[in-house]
Order: sequence, then structure tokens, then C-alpha cells
Amino acid sequence: MSETFVSHLECSLTGKRYEAGRVHGLSETGRPLLVRYDLSALARAVSKEALARRPEGFWRYAEFLPVGKPENRITLGEVTTPLIRTPRIKAKLGGGEILVKDEGRLPTGSFKARGLALAVSMAKELGLSHLAMPTNGNAGAALAAYASRAGLKSTVFCPDDTPRANVEEIALQGGDVYLVNGLINDCGRIVAEGKDKTGWFDVSTLKEPYRIEGKKTMGLELAEQLGWELPDVVFYPTGGGTGLIGMWKSFAELEAIGWIGARRPRMVAVQASGCAPIVRAWEKGEEHAPLWENAHTIASGIRVPVAVGDFLIIRAVRESGGFAIAVDDFDILDAQKEMAREEGLLLCPEGAATYAAYRQSLADGRVSREDRVVLFNCATGLKYPMPQAGRRVDRAKPVDYAQFL
Ligand SMILES: *Cc1c(COP(=O)(O)O)cnc(C)c1O
Repeated sequence: MSETFVSHLECSLTGKRYEAGRVHGLSETGRPLLVRYDLSALARAVSKEALARRPEGFWRYAEFLPVGKPENRITLGEVTTPLIRTPRIKAKLGGGEILVKDEGRLPTGSFKARGLALAVSMAKELGLSHLAMPTNGNAGAALAAYASRAGLKSTVFCPDDTPRANVEEIALQGGDVYLVNGLINDCGRIVAEGKDKTGWFDVSTLKEPYRIEGKKTMGLELAEQLGWELPDVVFYPTGGGTGLIGMWKSFAELEAIGWIGARRPRMVAVQASGCAPIVRAWEKGEEHAPLWENAHTIASGIRVPVAVGDFLIIRAVRESGGFAIAVDDFDILDAQKEMAREEGLLLCPEGAATYAAYRQSLADGRVSREDRVVLFNCATGLKYPMPQAGRRVDRAKPVDYAQFL
């Protein structure tokens, strides 16, 4: 383990220290643990110039990550995800520059690859053999793929209305997958309560310390891609909030080593109106977000009625001068269609929610026309049900070409 720059882990609520190199779940107070580094040693070990020469993908940030042995870095050919400009939409809205960070290009088609690559690599390094989690689909797919790659067993519980593609890819990639007649928190309870009887390790969002470290690489990557100048606003589709918390952490680490200044993007937590616990807590000025009853939205990845890291999401949003915003399913579908037709980008519903939120924020003045914004497209749109399409042509009859004009 001496190959890493990890100094210790820390309770995100109390600051209590925990030793590195051991298996950890939540802290004693039931809160997420954050990985802390010896940042001065890290800064001496790597430079922006050295980084620039490395292969693409998130493993290039090895010094910022907790995996010690190179052979434990489980890889499936990760790429640096592109930042795609949307000039037609920019012109149409008369807004500022919009960059879509397309995370759908990662292995298993979503940004869950980042978090699970790290969680699985650390599980391997720490000698765990059986991993389990509740999922709305993409996390389970990433877990199954990386666990199989690492030679570990994975067991996944998802709500019974999870997109078919997710359920099937989990199974094909070697995960044991179960459908539960409930939501992700009901699945989470089954995993938590089964721990003693099965010996599996719970890799639920924020219930182990390393998925945040993986998602943190979105912040490192974004900074590097933009020449170490952060954008003005980041719209993030927020479920458990791992990515928002992780990016916020990465910016602090980059500032501590002198690679960026104090300027931060405003972090915007985007949720669906049918499941918006963070938005409700934000609007009431509260630190914690109680369970959202009867959660429903087509954006299954953000259908998370309750989040253990609620206070960390709200804190990052507040410290950044950002806000939390909810968008209707109707607007999500409309935003998805507009981005696909205008720019050729097939966003997933959660990614489309960030664009819907941007349009809304531009209209109500929370975001200005000068702001350069980044929208996170968290997964490929191809995994989700799409509207039926395709009109018939009968090859046996004369073709009426006028109809194609
Ligand atoms: C998991 C997921 C989210 C939410 O990500 P968090 O970082 O856990 O908040 C959003 N969209 C999709 C497609 C997801 O799979």
C-alpha cells in the first residue's frame, strides 16, 4: 500500500480519522468516509506536464487515487470522455457556451464505470471476494463488468421496472441479478440486512469510500480538458450525489496542490420533479433530505428517494453558490428530443434533465447568457426505451418517392 499517497480516511460528518489499508464501510456515525491524501507528497510526485503525456482515461490520475498495486487497477479500456459543443442550441437559446461531457462513452456506457472501477480495484486490493449492491441499473452493470474482470463475484438487486438493457447486461457480464418489487432504497435494505448471512461486501453509493474517488476523476478530467480553468456552472443529474461530491472534493485537492485557483464552478444539483428530495431540502434551507414518498420519474438513474450523502451534496451546492432544481419528465423528454435533433447527441433521460434544467435556469435568470456551462450526460441514451419509429415500405409495390421529400 505504500505506493499510494493516501494518508487516512475521515468521517465526512465528525472528521474522525480511520486507518488506510483496511476494509471500511460507513463511519461509526453511519456517514460516508472520505479518502485523504498527503497532498504535498502527491504534488512532488506528479506534474501537469507529466500528466499530459499519459494515455487517456481516468487511470492517468493514479496519484490522486487510492489503489496501490498497478496490477489491481482493473481496466476495461476507459477513455477520456469528450466535451462536445452544441453551437446550434447555443444560437437558438442565445445563451452562453454549452459543453456536454459525454460519459456514455465509458465502458458499460455510463459514468458508473468510474466509481465501480475504483470500488472493485480496492476490493481486490483489500482481499474481498463477493460484492453486492442495490442499483437503478447502470451501477449494477458497471459492478458486474469490473467484478468479472477482477475475478470477483457480484450480486445485484434492482427495482423490477429497471430498464431491460441494464438487467440483461448485468447478467451477461456475470452478475447475479434480482428484481425487487420496490425502489432502490428497498433493494439497499436487502443488501444491508444480508451482510451477516452472506459475507458479501456492500458497495452501495457512498457506503464504501472509493466510488467517490472514482467519480472524483470527472472533476480532474474536466479541469485538465479545459486547460485547468473550470467552467462557470456545472449541471449534474443528482441521485446519490457521488459525482457532485466527488468533483467538489477534486477541486479542493487541485487547489491544495496549486494547480487551480480558488474560483469554482457553481454546482447545480438536477433532479426530477417526481423525486426531488435534495431540491426540497435545498429550498427549505435544510442540511438533510428526508425520504421522498412515491418517487417516480422516467429518469431512473436519479430516482433515489433518500441519499446518505445528502448533507454533502447540499454543502457543495451551497459553498459553490449553486442551486438545486427539479425538472418534469415532460421537459426531460422534450430536452432529449431537441438535443438529438439539433446536435445529433442522444442523451440519456438523466443527461437530458441537465439540459432541461439549463434551459429553465437561463429563462429564469439563475444562469446568465455569459456563463460557460457543462452538462453531464451520464450514460448513453441507447440503454433506455425509445419511442417506436420506422414507417413501412412495400418492396412489391411501386415506391412513391414523393413521400420522402
Ligand atoms: C447513477 C446515475 C446518476 C446519479 O449519479 P450520482 O452521482 O449517484 O448522483 C445519474 N444518471 C445516471 C444515468 C446514473 O446511472
